[in-house]
Amino acid sequence: LKEVREGLARILVPKAERIYDAPVFYNPLMALNRDISVLALKALGSRRVLDALSATGIRGIRYALETPAGEIWLNDINPNAFRLIVDNVKLNFSGELEIEGKMAVLEGEKTLVVTNADANRLMNEQFRYFDFVDLDPFGSPMEFLDSALRAVKRRGVLAITATDTGVLCGAYRNACLRKYLAEPIRGELCHEAGLRILIGTLVRYAAKYDLGVEVLLAYYRDHYFRAFLQLRNGAKTADKSMKQLGYLYQDESGKFEFENTFLPSKATAHGPLWLGPLKNQEFVEELHRLSAEHPLGSKKTQKFLGLLKDELEVPFFYDTHAVARRHGLEVRKLAGVIEILYEKGYKATRTHFSPTALKTDAPFEEVLEALRELQ
Ligand code: SAM
Repeated sequence: LKEVREGLARILVPKAERIYDAPVFYNPLMALNRDISVLALKALGSRRVLDALSATGIRGIRYALETPAGEIWLNDINPNAFRLIVDNVKLNFSGELEIEGKMAVLEGEKTLVVTNADANRLMNEQFRYFDFVDLDPFGSPMEFLDSALRAVKRRGVLAITATDTGVLCGAYRNACLRKYLAEPIRGELCHEAGLRILIGTLVRYAAKYDLGVEVLLAYYRDHYFRAFLQLRNGAKTADKSMKQLGYLYQDESGKFEFENTFLPSKATAHGPLWLGPLKNQEFVEELHRLSAEHPLGSKKTQKFLGLLKDELEVPFFYDTHAVARRHGLEVRKLAGVIEILYEKGYKATRTHFSPTALKTDAPFEEVLEALRELQ
């Protein structure tokens, strides 16, 4: 084992050549994911929190150390992980640790509960108990989603990671049909479409429990998707969320359009997917503000939140490289295209989905024209 520091936490992690060979999983690259989650929890002020798939415990321990959360549960099915979580809790907190069977409880100002259970079993037992449930699995979160929707309070928050980007981005179409009940798209729009397919599926799962969904923040980064969803109680809010689902169409020129319907009108549709906002602007601004005064695990976090904050809130984007390629044009600097659109009175910004793409309220023809003007 070796000790690492992240945020305010000290954590023992296995020494391993490759992260997937380690007996307990730890990925330092996910520090940004954990930073944003800590800031989100801080902004929300949720009290009872579940880190359902905890591995080393780093996420739940950071929640306990860096946010106002009062009762934090850390769980993993792997007995090696359970023992390491207990050791890591002891390393960071000084209270009495009681171990009863497979559960360890530390009480003081904060209560930390460590369990060695199947996450689905645990979440089904803790019916409507948590204000904030975090799912950070290997691959797809879908196998845990129903239980998470039972374990969370009806006005609670779900924080969900999906690392099966190949599936959601259409590299494995059948897996996307099976897991997400949706037709993916390949090409330059695949990451935003993948994120929106993930949210679309979460919305449909929540809707069957008469829960509506507001997306506080959802993003793509380092080959994973992450979504913070505020649940809203009631059939009417669920109906409202369902109305924000629809389909994406893209033709060979790169032009795209969408359709806000329950059923698609054409067989070339991609989806169903979420067409609503990917952020609540006030929430992201608050996270960005908090990141300046918070000891973070990754230097990149604040910059990334700045990018998310400034990104125009419209579905999908134009990738200048892809548009140039599709039309036999030379690649031009993104900033130049954005400036031309600006001068014509349109809104246009960078997007976190791709360093060569822009989000705009201008029609596709204007983006193409801007690229032509720059040849
Ligand atoms: N959240 C951790 C972090 O931020 O470092 C990483 C979690 S790791 C990607 C996924 C963990 O889920 C593994 O430690 C694995 O043992 C655990 N796991 C897999 N299936 C599980 C199940 N059914 N119930 C509980 N834990 C499970």
